[in-house]
Amino acid sequence: MIPVQGFAGKTVAVLGLGRSGLATVTALQAGGADAVVWDDSPDAQEKADNADASLRDLTKPNAYKDVAALITSPGIPHLYPEPHPAIARAMAEGCPVDNDIGLFFRSFATSEWDNFETIPKIIAVTGSNGKSTTSALIHHILEEAGRPTQLAGNIGRGVLDIDEAHDGEVIVLELSSYQTDLARSLTPDVAVFTNLSPDHLDRHAGHGGYFAAKRRLFSEGGPDRAVIGIDEPEGLYIANQMSEGPTDDRVIRVSSGQKLGGDGWNVFARKGFLSETRKGRQVASIDLRAIAGLPGAHNHQNACAAFAACRSLGIGPRVIEQALHSFKGLPHRSQVIAERDGVRFVNDSKATNVDSAAKALAAFDKIRWICGGLEKEGGLEALLPAPTVVKAYVIGREAGAFAMKLKGLDVEVCGDMATAVAKAAAEAKTGETVLLAPAAASFDQYNSFEKRGDDFVEQVAKTL
Ligand code: ADP
Repeated sequence: MIPVQGFAGKTVAVLGLGRSGLATVTALQAGGADAVVWDDSPDAQEKADNADASLRDLTKPNAYKDVAALITSPGIPHLYPEPHPAIARAMAEGCPVDNDIGLFFRSFATSEWDNFETIPKIIAVTGSNGKSTTSALIHHILEEAGRPTQLAGNIGRGVLDIDEAHDGEVIVLELSSYQTDLARSLTPDVAVFTNLSPDHLDRHAGHGGYFAAKRRLFSEGGPDRAVIGIDEPEGLYIANQMSEGPTDDRVIRVSSGQKLGGDGWNVFARKGFLSETRKGRQVASIDLRAIAGLPGAHNHQNACAAFAACRSLGIGPRVIEQALHSFKGLPHRSQVIAERDGVRFVNDSKATNVDSAAKALAAFDKIRWICGGLEKEGGLEALLPAPTVVKAYVIGREAGAFAMKLKGLDVEVCGDMATAVAKAAAEAKTGETVLLAPAAASFDQYNSFEKRGDDFVEQVAKTL
């Protein structure tokens, strides 16, 4: 655990007593602060008692009169569509609002580091898609390279929950837009931006607000090194803002599909090959096609971003290549879960938006596509004409309406996962892939995308 610095003897309010909220309370107390807490759920009192903190209704007038800061959880809206009443109250009463990420960055370094040979570093990863895969991949490469490392943030453990840093350790943090939007301190050594596509628009009042939240990781005085996917104008914009000129190697530009030239530092993947170029010369090349844990151009983009982040720490290309081969992939992300009579079954339940589903559809051939669920803003047009799809099997409470939007495809309305998997498995021929890539959130039928993916895996097992 990382004891929070700067609040000893002060009172700090914590809103939301989920995983990160509880870890925050413990870390604040360890740093000598007094925590008062609030949660909207009916069992708030019990949660407060368990955390050994006093419950205070933070929505009431004068709730913040003795409070030095409010620390809020990422799931609670702080601005759009409208601020939670406890956050609105803090702002009205002039109490600074922050989150666990902000606390982490101000508390991570300790005086003990003066005795370290190599100062610990933080790599922070953000973007619309590929954050978890890229973060886990960087962590895996570092482990394989023999570097002490921990993975935290939006993936794995809460940031304040990790162990205090060892000599030479590298902390890999996955950061969502909700986290980067609010954190008062965001000072990674290496910052990674994977890509940008519309998502969470309600929480950021549109695409511009969403980009602005992610961009905070790259603001003035930001990271020593930035690894930036430049396949969208937003990435190109950040890269341009951060570099002093074409040869400035503070920025490593990453692309999936484009051959990047010029005198800067580039890592790109084309036709399944990764290339690293620096000052106009190729310095490394890797055949990505044979890497089972990273299928498709979208995963090649993740491989490039992870490769670049690790190269910026001085890890050699051959060490990275070996680690790419031993990476197993993450559950629910383009994960091959079974193979029978030449038919592959792939779980990409995490494809909760149109962009990630489109990437999955491009990563495989002859697809029996299980899709549907709680549709997000922006429509499904970007998925069409979907030339790799043999047939779509639609699930979800609004399966009929979802199916109507898949114009030009052979579509069957199945409603639930059991029906969809049974039909797709029965109809699949050798060489085809049964792919769950919903292009929608899961909440109309499941508590989470993980539960949806688990159901898919279970239903597939029944057909084998
Ligand atoms: P995040 O943590 O950003 O949500 P994940 O690694 O969990 O990213 O992947 C989320 C979804 O996006 C999965 O469906 C995955 O297959 C897909 N995906 C992974 N990497 C990329 C990428 N670079 N571009 C687009 N989609 C991706």
